[in-house]
Amino acid sequence: MTTSQPNGSNLPRTVLGQTGMEISKLGFGGIPIQMVSEDEAVAVIRACVAAGINFFDTARTYTNSEVRVGRALEGVRDKVFVATKSVSRERAKVESDLATSLGNLRTDYLDLYQFHNVATEDALEAIFVPGGPVDFVKEQKARGVVRHIGITSHSPEIALKAIKTGEFETIQFPFNYIERQADELHAEARRRGMGIIVMKPLAGGGLGDSAELARASVKWCASQDVSVIIPGVKSLEEVRANVDAVLSGAPTADELALLERTKQELGPVFCRRCGYCAPCPNDIPVNWLSSAEFWFKRAGWLRMDESHIKNFLAGLECQACGTCESRCPYSLPLTRLIPQYSKKLLLRAVELGKISREEAVAAIVAAGRQDED
Ligand code: SF4
Ligand code: SF4
Repeated sequence: MTTSQPNGSNLPRTVLGQTGMEISKLGFGGIPIQMVSEDEAVAVIRACVAAGINFFDTARTYTNSEVRVGRALEGVRDKVFVATKSVSRERAKVESDLATSLGNLRTDYLDLYQFHNVATEDALEAIFVPGGPVDFVKEQKARGVVRHIGITSHSPEIALKAIKTGEFETIQFPFNYIERQADELHAEARRRGMGIIVMKPLAGGGLGDSAELARASVKWCASQDVSVIIPGVKSLEEVRANVDAVLSGAPTADELALLERTKQELGPVFCRRCGYCAPCPNDIPVNWLSSAEFWFKRAGWLRMDESHIKNFLAGLECQACGTCESRCPYSLPLTRLIPQYSKKLLLRAVELGKISREEAVAAIVAAGRQDED
């Protein structure tokens, strides 16, 4: 059930599953604040608090994010809920991560502690080793250092298995109009009374820079049967836009049509621009190439310049080593896609008159890509 906040804010609030935590349905995602100065990050987080956002999610692996969240929330710690994560799979490392997080966040307890990006059977098994990470965090829960325990994943199969262990109170998974892999696991989580935290409500940047599309996506996600959505923000404008979107209710028919058109344009295999696949050992700008076509469609093909063509030529030289593919949490078949995208974009550059057909064909033949689609 969704109600409005008692603190003067009109933001709707929900209860995070059986944790009992009464949170704003619009939360805060802590990745993008790494990209701005510390003072800007602190201002953004404080603007969130002022707007009625009371759920703050960060992670040990988001470089300076925890430190910034900790500084910004000093003085209001008891009025907000703080969630962080450990990507470690060994007890001693989780122990050390937790101590670091508490220090960074300037607190002596965490409202939610999550096992971060558990993506494989091995990782799930590792955290459940007797006396291992899960047992350690349960001990911390008994001591009151950790109030609740959750898990995050990008793999629907592993997330579902994790949910079925019955050990976690929340599940955090990507979910938005375009990405609906979470439908089944959300149903199972709901059945078990777990809190549902939506990461990547803007498709992890996969929707591009359109404010209209971002607004439609936030409205759609916030109107779903989930506990909280945590779009990452790095500016006061983004905070205002998200708050306004959530306060505007469900998407209009035009906004739904825009989301549907975008979904069709992106197709079933699309890059969320998370950047996990980089760097390539052969210096190929893999995370740029994986989303370049979509970017040109939105930004305009005429913006293609020499630096882009250099990237297409580099992509033709992919050695299919698999490094990037093994890192992509969405299992994009990058060893096949990178040279394919590069060739396609190079041929587009020919159509646009940005490179001569002879030069492009010579590069394609030299890289042995003439017979590939
Ligand atoms: S598969 Fe290709 S693009 Fe990916 S890391 Fe290897 S060489 Fe680089
Ligand atoms: S290819 Fe995968 S890992 Fe790389 S940016 Fe795209 S979604 Fe992220």
